[in-house]
Amino acid sequence: MKIYNTLSKKAEDFIPIEKNKVSIYTCGPTVYNYAHIGNLRTYVFEDFLIRTLEFLGYEVKRVMNITDVGHLTSDSDEGDDKMELGAQREGKTAWDIAKFYTEAFFRDFKELNCQMPQFTPKATEHIPEMIEMIKKLEQKGYTYKTSDGIYFDTSKFKDYYKLMGKSHIEGLKEGARVEFSKEKKNITDFSLWKFSPKDKKRQMEWNSPWGVGFPGWHIECSAMSIKYLGQPFDIHAGGVDHIPIHHTNEIAQAEAANEKPFANYWIHGEFLVLKSSEKMSKSSGNFLTLSSLKDSGFSPMDYRYFCSQAHYSKQLEFSFEAMESAKNGYNHLKNSAEEIISKTNEMEPNKNLKHYQEFVKAVSEDLNIPKAVSVLWETIRDKNITEKEKLWLINEFDKVFGFKLTENAEEEIPSEIIDLVNQRTEYKKQKNYQKADEIREIIKQKGYEVKDTPKGPKVKKI
Ligand SMILES: [Zn+2]
Repeated sequence: MKIYNTLSKKAEDFIPIEKNKVSIYTCGPTVYNYAHIGNLRTYVFEDFLIRTLEFLGYEVKRVMNITDVGHLTSDSDEGDDKMELGAQREGKTAWDIAKFYTEAFFRDFKELNCQMPQFTPKATEHIPEMIEMIKKLEQKGYTYKTSDGIYFDTSKFKDYYKLMGKSHIEGLKEGARVEFSKEKKNITDFSLWKFSPKDKKRQMEWNSPWGVGFPGWHIECSAMSIKYLGQPFDIHAGGVDHIPIHHTNEIAQAEAANEKPFANYWIHGEFLVLKSSEKMSKSSGNFLTLSSLKDSGFSPMDYRYFCSQAHYSKQLEFSFEAMESAKNGYNHLKNSAEEIISKTNEMEPNKNLKHYQEFVKAVSEDLNIPKAVSVLWETIRDKNITEKEKLWLINEFDKVFGFKLTENAEEEIPSEIIDLVNQRTEYKKQKNYQKADEIREIIKQKGYEVKDTPKGPKVKKI
């Protein structure tokens, strides 16, 4: 597989450390609020990546952290902890906020059919590992103390700028200048450990060799990734917004502490951008979530299909019109798959088929999911392959897409509707077509549609 590596700034052949195995770390959510759909695009992209690696025969070991402490409102170590702010906003404890939004996150994650990582460590449960790493950095002379915490001296780490391009460096300097604390030695220096404020009691704080406080945001990812995956590991992924600060600092900490490379491949997903005036940012207080999409009549699968429309390295423009066409596209796909399933439930594997080879090529060339989707469409339209081959291809491709194309649609049908369908079947057997039609109409009013197929009635949501 070829993949674009942000570290080398070019597409490279992916060569894992251990044959046929992949160790991967992806930055997880900060659980102080619901995830907005921009965040969710990153998780869907990462899921396409994981599924592709598995499809290509790798055994994947994945870690995704849960940031439940230490993520401040400003990237320059100023401002409040987002968790404590969430607690104030909702009149709950920071711990309750973390629990509530972690559960909400995983609900979204599962609804989007993202596969669960093997490890989902919480920052608050790994404070000792972070303290150990900070101690190592201190012993090696990378740290200094200010009035509000222990900082990493970025001028001491050779190659600090290696992950970001020149444009990021300029932007970083511009942005940081505004809030550059006078006590910091360099504008890029960042906190490893912050002291609890003297004038108020924090809800989340721990003892450390430097005093009571809490970890900086970046240290958790370095400490937890190494704990579960070792160092170096194969792939570190996340959103492009993390390149200039968070990921750059993760590298500095891990490589300075242990004097070896941190991760071999860095893969970054681009932003979802809004066409209309809706705000994506959480700070505005009004942002789009998976729930708000559902309220507008879109399913999580519609959104997942929408995400497949752009290459991960390109910005994807969100609008409700674009969602509408994604919804139509997805429904069409699902119906086409169901039509094939209604004719056969047998699959005939054939890796020599042109479509199969084109699909493998598409996903292997820097995860070209949009191209792979077009291969899926060509497969569905192809009249020269058998239904059994077609079903096999769709089933294979969906291992990467996760569109639930070959899943039994009846699973999600409420029992009330199933009862009605059974009544209708009874009336049809009795040749009471008028009653059968009446029931079909009732089912329709309740938002479902019955179709008669050679294998019996099929029900689906309209
Ligand atoms: Zn991270």
